[in-house]
Amino acid sequence: MTNHAEEHDCCGRAAAAPAACPACGRLGRSVKSVTLGHHLPPALRARLGSPAGFCPNPACGVVYFSGRKTILKGETLQPVTQKDPGEDVHICYCFDIKRADLRRQLAAGGSTDIPDRIRRGIAAGGCSCDIPSCIIETYSVA
Ligand SMILES: [Zn+2]
Repeated sequence: MTNHAEEHDCCGRAAAAPAACPACGRLGRSVKSVTLGHHLPPALRARLGSPAGFCPNPACGVVYFSGRKTILKGETLQPVTQKDPGEDVHICYCFDIKRADLRRQLAAGGSTDIPDRIRRGIAAGGCSCDIPSCIIETYSVA
């Protein structure tokens, strides 16, 4: 099982594997440049550099990191789902669904079509996420 030939640390490719958050030590998820472009103003995007990781720990103030460089909660263009439990926070950015939308549906009828809406949207090619985590997030609220 030694088919990983990409072990040159000169080109940085090896660093695309998830790294640990420099603040809390939780294993991050690697983030594509297109995602950072959606969530960060250009100056911060440039400051962070690449490859970048996302810290999924809700208790940690770091949202994105690259090596020791970090982007903190509050610096992103919009509140981040995993970091902010507020109602006016997107659970799905691509299809503009907020946590309050989901709660309203659940309070009204006890069920929700939001995961299906997201799935249909993804099937139609409207999702720009690396990993469509919104469905998982939807179930964590529901
Ligand atoms: Zn962290």
